[in-house]
Amino acid sequence: MKLRKSAAVAAAIAAFALTATACGGDSGNAGDKPSDASTGKDAPKLPTYTVAKDVSIDSPTLKKAQSAGKIVIGAKNDQPFLGFEDTDRKRSGFDIEIAKMVAADLGFGPDQIQFETVDSNVRETTISKGEVDLYVGTYTINDERKKQVGFAGPYFLAGADLLVRKDDSAVTGPDSLKGKTVCSIKGSTPLQEIKKPKYGAKTVELSKYSECVQQLLNNEVDAVTTDDAILKGYAAQRPTKLKVVGKPFTEEPYGIGMNKDDKALRDAVSDAIEAHEKNGDYKKAYDATLGLSGSTYTEPPALERY
Ligand code: GLU
Repeated sequence: MKLRKSAAVAAAIAAFALTATACGGDSGNAGDKPSDASTGKDAPKLPTYTVAKDVSIDSPTLKKAQSAGKIVIGAKNDQPFLGFEDTDRKRSGFDIEIAKMVAADLGFGPDQIQFETVDSNVRETTISKGEVDLYVGTYTINDERKKQVGFAGPYFLAGADLLVRKDDSAVTGPDSLKGKTVCSIKGSTPLQEIKKPKYGAKTVELSKYSECVQQLLNNEVDAVTTDDAILKGYAAQRPTKLKVVGKPFTEEPYGIGMNKDDKALRDAVSDAIEAHEKNGDYKKAYDATLGLSGSTYTEPPALERY
């Protein structure tokens, strides 16, 4: 039974990797592509979420969404197992599930969610201009960002780590980066961290994580830094070419971003996260997404309401 389960999980990873590489723009990974992605039928299944009716909250954002008949949610599109959009424009991953469970509690079914891709460097402006109602995309809660946006959560705790080529034995952790070139993303906390003089690293700063991964595969940079949860997804996609070093050096608590002053919405989203953690949806969603990339499940962090 145990064997059968792990075979099913392996097949699910293969299936996910196949869709996830479909628009990765990487032509050099033929060796990592699974030969048969159709055998994952016993793999963990995604939950479905009951859509709440007659939701009434004193939230300007929610009222606007209700009259539009849809909720606009910002997300990433190039983070396999977290926030990914395939060539058929289908979104998948743990963050997408978090978005769906919260939207359901606010009264919006999956076909009433309009996902918009919003990369790290434009999150605060996009949220504060009201171009998205919610944002679910590996978004670290911190005091600096709280000056511009509101956060519900945290719903997950990640930590910055390093992605390197499989055959690299020189980069063993953040203290081995002197003189090395590290790629990361504009507007992200791991980039801010790695620029500190104590690491002695040179940085390449791009807009999309997938571009950093491509530079690593092309030998143009020595490492990519961001959250371990994101990096594990890329390593799972190309297990013969990439590995995660495995020494997290920051704490990255993920929150759901929204308008800074909409406290009613913040409370409602925290309630939704809490309810789905309690009823088992959270764990089920995790097992069917992030869990497939080699991240071990840990209990969600305590919510911080303010
Ligand atoms: N969690 C980090 C951040 O919010 C890195 C991941 C990302 O860029 O989304 O900056």
